[in-house]
Amino acid sequence: MATERTLSIIKPDATSRNLTGKINAKFEEAGLRIVAQKRIQLSKEQAGEFYKVHAERPFYGELCEFMASGPVVVQVLEGESAITKNREVMGATNPADADEGTIRAEFAESVGENSVHGSDAPETAAEEIAFFFSGLEIVG
Ligand code: ADP
Repeated sequence: MATERTLSIIKPDATSRNLTGKINAKFEEAGLRIVAQKRIQLSKEQAGEFYKVHAERPFYGELCEFMASGPVVVQVLEGESAITKNREVMGATNPADADEGTIRAEFAESVGENSVHGSDAPETAAEEIAFFFSGLEIVG
């Protein structure tokens, strides 16, 4: 197993309900280290650029509106197999399908407003980290 880094976003439905600390505790309990973190507000254009891989999906407009609707906390998580580990801690996209104890099972409101984003592969993790952070901002 290798040490990896992955991009995480605590989404507006979670920041608005003051859940940043509770979600961060889930990451840390799973052995993921928060090695960079900042709270920002995305424009709809920036959200659209970040999620451009979903541009053809029917929910793309709704997703961009939602991601720009309030503050998000963007973070880099580091640890053994961090990409997969984070996806496990997050739970399934639809909270109705998410395993007990996962972030989405406990906190997500719907398939769209599902509290967290996490990179799904090493290539996307590298791209998504570079979208938000410079090397100087990541301190492992
Ligand atoms: P994940 O975030 O679990 O990797 P996807 O990459 O499939 O899931 O989708 C990206 C995001 O788009 C989801 O986290 C969710 O916010 C939104 N989304 C996915 N499916 C739907 C849907 N059917 N309706 C509304 N929003 C959706």
